[in-house]
Amino acid sequence: MIANNFEYAKPASLAEALNLLADGSAKALAGGMSLIPMMKLRLASPEKLVDLSGVPNLAAISESGGTIRIGATATHYAIESSPVCRAKCPLIAETAASIGDVQVRNCGTLGGAAAHADPSADYPAALLALEAKFLVASKSGTRTVEARDLFVDALTTSLEPGELIQEIQLPSDDSGTGTCYKKVYQPASGYATVGIAVRVSKSGGKISFARVGVTGLATKAFRARGVEDALVAGKSSAEAAALVTNGVDANSDIHASADYRNHLAQVTTARAIEVALARIA
Ligand SMILES: Cc1cc2nc3c(=O)[nH]c(=O)nc-3n(C[C@H](O)[C@H](O)[C@H](O)COP(=O)(O)OP(=O)(O)OC[C@H]3O[C@@H](n4cnc5c(N)ncnc54)[C@H](O)[C@@H]3O)c2cc1C
Repeated sequence: MIANNFEYAKPASLAEALNLLADGSAKALAGGMSLIPMMKLRLASPEKLVDLSGVPNLAAISESGGTIRIGATATHYAIESSPVCRAKCPLIAETAASIGDVQVRNCGTLGGAAAHADPSADYPAALLALEAKFLVASKSGTRTVEARDLFVDALTTSLEPGELIQEIQLPSDDSGTGTCYKKVYQPASGYATVGIAVRVSKSGGKISFARVGVTGLATKAFRARGVEDALVAGKSSAEAAALVTNGVDANSDIHASADYRNHLAQVTTARAIEVALARIA
C-alpha cells in the first residue's frame, strides 16, 4: 500500500527539530523501520515527518564519569560495533546485535526502537535491566525519564506530544558484573518471542545484585523483581527463573500461545542467568 500524503522536513539542528515537532502534529522519523511500514499500512498517517538524520551529534556514543551516552539516532549496528559499548556495557551491544537483520540494524535506531515500544522489541529488556535514563527534549526544555517509567503499554510510552528522546544514558561501571541477553527469535522478523536481559554480580560467593528485564512476554517490557529477589536470596537459577511468569498476563498470538510463551520465558531466564553468572569478570 502507499502511505497517505505528508509533508517532509529535514531540520539541521535539534532546536529546529523541536520547533517542528512542538504542536504534536508531526512525527519524528529516525530509521523508518517501524514508522514507514505503519504508514504504508495506514496504521499511522502523520501530517508531517521530521527527519532526524540531519541533526548534528544525535548519533554520538561517548563515555564519561561512569555513564555511557548514546545519541537517539545511533543505529543498532553502531551500538553493536561500538568499542565503548562492547567494552563498558556489553549487554546493550549484545542486544543490538540480536535485532532483525543487517539492513534493519544499519537503519534502525535506539531512540526509535525505545519510542516505538513494540512489546516484542529487544532493547526494552536490556534498558530496564540497565536502569537506563532517557534525556527527553522538547521546545520547552529537557527532562530525564527512567526506563521503568518510559514503557507504559504496547506501542505506548510516557513521551508527551512534541517530545523527542535525545540521549540514552547507561552505566559504564559494570566491572564485577556479568550480563547476558538471550531471546527466542521469531524466525521471520527476528523479533523476540521472549527476550531476557540479566545483570548480576556476586559478593562473598553469593549473588548480591540482580536485574532482570523481560520483553515479548507481556504487552510491555518489565523488570522481573521476583526473579531478582530470589537470586539475591540464594535460590538456584532454575528456581528463580520459574518466578518470571508470576502475575504476568502472557501474550498469545499466531507466533506463540500464552502457555508456550510462559514456558519459553522460564527456560530462557534460567539460561540467561547461568550465562551472566559465568561472565562475571
Ligand atoms: C524486518 C524488520 C525486522 C525487525 N526485527 C526486529 C527485532 O528483531 N528486534 C527489534 O527489537 N526490532 C526489530 N525491528 C524494529 C527495528 O528495530 C526498528 O529499528 C525500531 O523498531 C524502530 O526504530 P527506527 O529508528 O527505525 O524508528 P522509526 O521507525 O523511524 O520510528 C519509530 C517510532 O518512534 C518515533 N521516534 C523515532 N525516533 C524518536 C526519538 N528520538 N524520540 C521520540 N520518538 C522517536 C517515531 O516518530 C515513530 O513513532 C525490525 C524491523 C523490521 C522492519
